[in-house]
Amino acid sequence: MGIDVLISEQRIKRRVRELAEEISSEYKHKDLLLLGILKGAFIFLADLVRALNIPSRCDFIKVRSYVERESSGKIEIDFFPAVEGEDVLLVEDIIDTGLTINRIKEEIRKSGAKSVRLCALLDKPERRKEEVSIDYLGFSIPNRFVVGYGLDYNERFRNLPYIGVIEDAGVKVR
Ligand code: 5GP
Repeated sequence: MGIDVLISEQRIKRRVRELAEEISSEYKHKDLLLLGILKGAFIFLADLVRALNIPSRCDFIKVRSYVERESSGKIEIDFFPAVEGEDVLLVEDIIDTGLTINRIKEEIRKSGAKSVRLCALLDKPERRKEEVSIDYLGFSIPNRFVVGYGLDYNERFRNLPYIGVIEDAGVKVR
């Protein structure tokens, strides 16, 4: 099973630094709470938080929304931290149909957060089912199933330092 590089490690590093600069300047006078969406965002969040030059706190949300390669559209929240009165920045690996993130945003607003913004590493706009407002975006990508830099295929490939596309016996996956 071969993997083609879609976004190199260098490009990711550069873009993460740029996003961190933007976020640092916009949250300079706030008490930022980064909320990483598990598991896919753990590597992106780790790099992003280390590139910020403002004080911040990190926590995580865990939801179940994806069975193998297709989004079920159903989302179950496994755990969710207290967000009342917080300036929350959601950190997500990829926005696909948009169902998962909109559901999470709704929950955060209902739980009394002061503000909610979204930082996503990747966006696949072609697959959108609901409109999503992305405040900080790494890269917009074509409609392909990607792995690496935290993203998995059946729990594998999360450790790749780049974003890649699986090529299965000559047939590209999605
Ligand atoms: P949505 O609700 O936007 O359809 O689903 C978003 C979630 O689906 C992401 O957080 C991610 O876990 C998963 N997902 C969507 N597209 C891909 C992809 O190309 N590769 C991987 N590994 N996961 C994806």
